[in-house]
Amino acid sequence: MPVALHGTGVSRGIALGPARLLQRGGLDIPQYVLPPHLVDEEVERFIAALEAARTQLRAIRQQIPAGTPTDIAAFIDTHLLMLEDATLATVPIELILREGCNAEWALQMQQEALTRVFDQMDDAYLRTRRDDVAHAILRVQQLLLNQNQREAAIAAEAEDGRIIVTDDLSPGELVLLHQHNVAAIVTEHGGPMSHVAILARSLGIPAVVGVHNAWQYIRDGEPVVVDGRQGVLLAGLDAQGAAFYRTRQQQEKRARAQLHRLKDTPTVTADGAAIALFANIELPEDIQAARRVGAAGIGLYRTEFLYMNRSTPPDEDEQYRAYSKVVKAMKGKPVTIRTLDLGADKTADGAPPERGGANPALGLRAVRLCLREPELFRPQLRAILRASTHGTVRLLIPMISTLQEVRQVQELIAEARDDLRRRRQAFAGNIAVGGMIEVPAAAICAEDFARRLDFLSIGTNDLIQYTLAADRLDETINHLYQPLHPAVLRLIHTTLRAGTEAGIPVTMCGEMAGDPLLTRLLLGLGLTEFSVPPPALLEVKRIITASELEPLRRIARKILRQDDMEQSARLLAELNSDD
Ligand code: PEP
Ligand code: MG
Repeated sequence: MPVALHGTGVSRGIALGPARLLQRGGLDIPQYVLPPHLVDEEVERFIAALEAARTQLRAIRQQIPAGTPTDIAAFIDTHLLMLEDATLATVPIELILREGCNAEWALQMQQEALTRVFDQMDDAYLRTRRDDVAHAILRVQQLLLNQNQREAAIAAEAEDGRIIVTDDLSPGELVLLHQHNVAAIVTEHGGPMSHVAILARSLGIPAVVGVHNAWQYIRDGEPVVVDGRQGVLLAGLDAQGAAFYRTRQQQEKRARAQLHRLKDTPTVTADGAAIALFANIELPEDIQAARRVGAAGIGLYRTEFLYMNRSTPPDEDEQYRAYSKVVKAMKGKPVTIRTLDLGADKTADGAPPERGGANPALGLRAVRLCLREPELFRPQLRAILRASTHGTVRLLIPMISTLQEVRQVQELIAEARDDLRRRRQAFAGNIAVGGMIEVPAAAICAEDFARRLDFLSIGTNDLIQYTLAADRLDETINHLYQPLHPAVLRLIHTTLRAGTEAGIPVTMCGEMAGDPLLTRLLLGLGLTEFSVPPPALLEVKRIITASELEPLRRIARKILRQDDMEQSARLLAELNSDD
């Protein structure tokens, strides 16, 4: 009997192969109190396990093959840094000494304390740090308990083409699996923002996450199929079913090779309208991925990644070097540098010790934090202005909700220019300053913002969450997080119209822009600048170049008037029907 288990497809591609059930990562953590004369020995045991964990990670890092995307090494480095940080290296020792407890339990207590802090964070990327902490701690606990078998199992079974089915994976494990030519991964936990998802996408491994109870239904060794686009794991297929997926796999391979031919072709619709297709990046190293797909520029550079995993914020010169690297690499193509978008977790990353309040997502984050902490913001503004001498820079302000915030940032930019003039340091005379439309208030008043800014950029990840009051990270209300909700589409449309009327460009840099199923709808609504994750860029380009605008506009207008999302979905299917 065929079985189809559904989850969230986070990395496209089809894989057929034997399922390998990877032992679940959870451990039973013992708790006991030590007699006082054994406490020092326990501290030694902890230190030895910590050092062994670091040695393992360094070994994994060294095995990363040349040509692997740089973010893989960065993820391993994140874990190494965590194991060197006082929160994991010193606090557990203090707990062992104070409580007289065993090392595994001291780590457990520290993990629970950190999880509570992470759970209050509102930023998707920062919340994924909770998983990093859990993975780093688990590695040490496994060593303490002599249960470090998962990586050994991955390395021992050097069979190519396996489909891994497990509860969750760490970045280190994913790297190992990649080295052993894993065909696909299926995890019971995780969402599109989890590290497994991000890494699988960048490594091109088909992946489905959130497949609940996969272990219950799949037997080790049985042939299975993973469809990373549809988010499904299939078992028990007959010969005909398997042949169907094998054909689709071949078709996808051919389609990918075809896509690469589009890299250097202009992004123009079939009826001649020029569209700008930019890439989103998180770190300067990501620029290679953007260039590999021929991005017309960087539409979103999330600078907060520079502030993470460290105890003090980067100074002006370090920021200048990072931004300049990106600007120079793009050789005159526009680079949109978004100013710091940190949330309520700033202490973890060396920013001032403010709290986000009861609702961190609605609290002191992004531009609000920067205006409250100008000493954190000023070095960044100066660094951006200095880097702008090396190419074309656009400065993007996240999460604006009032015009006063825009005015205040503009004043701070003017002051930053004065500072640089006094210091006789070079900076570009005027750089475009834009605002992110990700709060409904900003979208509703988009025309006011459009009159005072040089460009707008729609951040749909947050715009959807704030418009629908649906936390973008909360699995339990995932069904409410709906890009096709009429309120979301109308706010997007209002923003696009405001840009046209004011004669300024409007980009979309949220995940919606990179979803090929929405490309035609967005074109029909009037979007002319897309900024997408590099792996999505060529597929979006293919759709743009194969589309004529006029029919899209007609159906998009109809969708905009819908009050019923099911009907919108049907119209969307019609829009995409000939693709
Ligand atoms: C967005 O909110 O759509 C966006 C691009 O910003 P981030 O995902 O970094 O919050
Ligand atoms: Mg956002």
